[in-house]
Amino acid sequence: MKAKRTPILMYHSISSNAQPGFWPFVLSPEVFREQMDYLGREGYTPITMSHLSLAKDCGPDILPEKPVVLTFDDGFSDFYTDAFPILQQHGYVATLFIATAYVGGASTWLEAEGEGKRVMLNWQQLLEVVDAGIECGAHCHQHLQLDTVPLATAREGIQLSKNMLEEQLSRRVRSFAYPFGYYTHRLRKTVREAGFTSACAVGDSVSCAGDDPFALPRLWIRAETDKESLSRRLSSPDPLAAVRLRKYLAQFRWLVRRNVARRKRSLALDRGGRA
Ligand SMILES: [Zn+2]
Repeated sequence: MKAKRTPILMYHSISSNAQPGFWPFVLSPEVFREQMDYLGREGYTPITMSHLSLAKDCGPDILPEKPVVLTFDDGFSDFYTDAFPILQQHGYVATLFIATAYVGGASTWLEAEGEGKRVMLNWQQLLEVVDAGIECGAHCHQHLQLDTVPLATAREGIQLSKNMLEEQLSRRVRSFAYPFGYYTHRLRKTVREAGFTSACAVGDSVSCAGDDPFALPRLWIRAETDKESLSRRLSSPDPLAAVRLRKYLAQFRWLVRRNVARRKRSLALDRGGRA
């Protein structure tokens, strides 16, 4: 019988270096390699997000026995230097979610975490990984928390990220991930209307065949996710999922609140300067 549940794993940076505030988003290349070895030993077959969403229309027969989706948010250049070689050695595919405003630049939206200068993938690297079978999805043009900005701004960022990726990579872009994982009913509709076939959130649970394709939950893989906890989280139901989700969302909210407060302060200073 084909699997009805597909774990979607969420990674950010695969690196040995990070500022303390960014550690929850970083996994060392050694641990990442162990995890990929583990998936192979357990008989998992990585597929892309667009392959998974195609199964919604074509039926589960197009899925392997034990599918898993490896997703990488934001587009850090260490995907190219540290994750991609390991994926290639295993013959695995993955899906990247790119915030297009930062391609070829730095992660300036992470200033508050002390990571404003983290190097991002450039278009040449993106072309190379896409040619090797990695899917490139969109993550909004700027890394905006979409449920906190006007809908017109969100719509513009969602569409622009899709258009830029399609133009630069000469491929259809079908998959989307909400920055910070937050969405609303209207945002789900906006993403669908922009021409995407799926959208990932955070959720910290394993995706089921009946899930809303524009609100797919993902498992956040963190530095402390060892083999045992990975195995526990891949199997379902996971009794600790709800507890972890509450903790992670609280952490996300704290980071976002801090960033919004800093932006407001700097806007107020700008206005004061002009007045
Ligand atoms: Zn992100």
